[in-house]
Amino acid sequence: MKWGIDLGGTKIEGVILDDDLREVYRDRIDTEREGGYAHIVSRIALLVQQFREKTGLTPEHIGIGTPGTIDPPTGLLKNSNTVVLNGQPLGKDLEAALGVPVTLANDANCFAIAETLLGCVPAEAPKARVVFGVILGTGTGGGIVVDGRIIGGAQGIGGEWGHIFLDHSGGYCYCGRVGCCEQILSGPALERYYANLSGTYRTMREIVPRYRQGNDPAATATLQRWFHFFAKGISTIINVLDPDVVVLGGGLGNIAELYTEGVPQVVDHLFNPRMDTLFLRPKLGDSAGVYGAAML
Ligand SMILES: [Zn+2]
Repeated sequence: MKWGIDLGGTKIEGVILDDDLREVYRDRIDTEREGGYAHIVSRIALLVQQFREKTGLTPEHIGIGTPGTIDPPTGLLKNSNTVVLNGQPLGKDLEAALGVPVTLANDANCFAIAETLLGCVPAEAPKARVVFGVILGTGTGGGIVVDGRIIGGAQGIGGEWGHIFLDHSGGYCYCGRVGCCEQILSGPALERYYANLSGTYRTMREIVPRYRQGNDPAATATLQRWFHFFAKGISTIINVLDPDVVVLGGGLGNIAELYTEGVPQVVDHLFNPRMDTLFLRPKLGDSAGVYGAAML
């Protein structure tokens, strides 16, 4: 059995998969992150305890998907938007609380491995060896999978394309630099851009239909700029990694025009006269994070 926990900002979800990656048991509880770091660790321990009681199973090892990433030389968590986790030895503390070895990986890496082993990749590109999984939503995450294994990287930042420089117009980023992909391609960045143009704040759920109607120049400009910079940003990954498949996940990965209007522009930035890279829609929905954790 494979045990996985997906630690989110509001929910902690757990799953047990059998050796054929079929779901045996699944449940979730609130993170209660306002209770602080030690409380979050105790919530994870509580969920695992409930799993033991309800299934009669005992884990030998647990995979944990987290926001942020473990810094390999120190073992401390970094880059998490659940900021109380940053600087904490989450892996060590979880092993102490759970009494079993744990493997941690960030949520984009869990998404990428789940879609590679169980989601859209086996269904649509079974021969793919190199997969780049993208999460486009409140942030801009990414994960690299090669031959069925996550490439976390020497510093734990493998696949983190959200903080590659894209354009000065993105402005300042919380990471301390300017013009990061995330400040141009993420949902909040698009909403901010639209508000600056139009003088009205609207969410992406409102902006996309206005783009489709074609009578809101600010919506047109926001989406067209997004397609342009998406193509430019993702071309950097393709020029370096040259994956067989890119999976576009996250809330913004659902927007059909990203495939029909954004993806065709990628070739303009490639060191190749054509593009063979497949862009796929994810198949596992919200389950990808917890399934990927179990696969760790
Ligand atoms: Zn940044």
